[in-house]
Amino acid sequence: MTETSANKPTLTIRLCAPRGFCAGVDRAIQIVELALEKYGRPVYVRHEIVHNKFVVDGLKAKGAVFVEELEEIPAEHVDRPVIFSAHGVPKSVPEDAQARNMFYLDATCPLVSKVHKEAEIHFRRDREVLLIGHAGHPEVIGTMGQLPVGTVTLIETEEDVEAFQPKSDLPLAYITQTTLSVDDTAGIVAALQARFPDIVAPHKEDICYATTNRQEAVKHVAPDVDAMVVVGAPNSSNSQRLREVAERAGCRVSVLIQRASDINWQDFENIASLGLTAGASAPETLVEEIISAFSERFEVTVETVRTAEETISFNLPRELRDMISPASAATG
Ligand code: SF4
Repeated sequence: MTETSANKPTLTIRLCAPRGFCAGVDRAIQIVELALEKYGRPVYVRHEIVHNKFVVDGLKAKGAVFVEELEEIPAEHVDRPVIFSAHGVPKSVPEDAQARNMFYLDATCPLVSKVHKEAEIHFRRDREVLLIGHAGHPEVIGTMGQLPVGTVTLIETEEDVEAFQPKSDLPLAYITQTTLSVDDTAGIVAALQARFPDIVAPHKEDICYATTNRQEAVKHVAPDVDAMVVVGAPNSSNSQRLREVAERAGCRVSVLIQRASDINWQDFENIASLGLTAGASAPETLVEEIISAFSERFEVTVETVRTAEETISFNLPRELRDMISPASAATG
């Protein structure tokens, strides 16, 4: 029997705003697309330009070739452009590219570059640097790689703060990954400041505006819905944090999914309200796909819950600015 709208259960989807693409992700994707347009295919990209399979597959189809290391680029293609991902790279990567006479474009988010500069300033001012972040994340590898090997200490938890032994008598300073949980980081910073009251803090918060705003929106929505869906990739740090924020806000079911085909419908039996958001690297089309999937099973009403306005955008690298009209040139 065909189900009609009359016998579908009702569902209110509370759609978080802001959600999805941030200015850094937008810029990084635009860099790959414009490089393909300007220089033709192939254009190489070191690491996933942003952590989203849908985005990466779309760029592959246009002629981007993704590699993890520069040495994977075939010798006959060293003259092709190579783009560094939004997460940033250790200093050794552009140095290596220069040594190989490669032409590179840096899609590192300017807010990650800001943290790189802070690390360098602390080092020049003879401070010992602690980085709050998650081991193994490319942004953390990139930020630690701004300073000589072994000089930066990674702090992941409050327990790490307790166990930390300074390597020197130098004053201490801390910086953070841009996509952390605002609340967890506040706890780690409080523990650091309690143990080392003189530790130098960033002038301006390192956790970026996009991470902060998306977490705030989830905190607002999650306590009042029966389930929460975060659209994003499992290797996307900011998406993982959104799922955790929803769970901690008291949402009974809080799941991170990449596509509608990943939905486990048993998770959503008997729900009347659903919170929906997307990590900073997840395109809006995937949010729409999720809404459509729920609309097939429920009589859906969508309500947008906006907790912040975002107007920030970033300049493109110099080499690509001739590819856009002055009227649409970004600022920031
Ligand atoms: Fe930049 Fe933040 Fe977006 Fe990362 S999440 S790309 S730091 S704006």
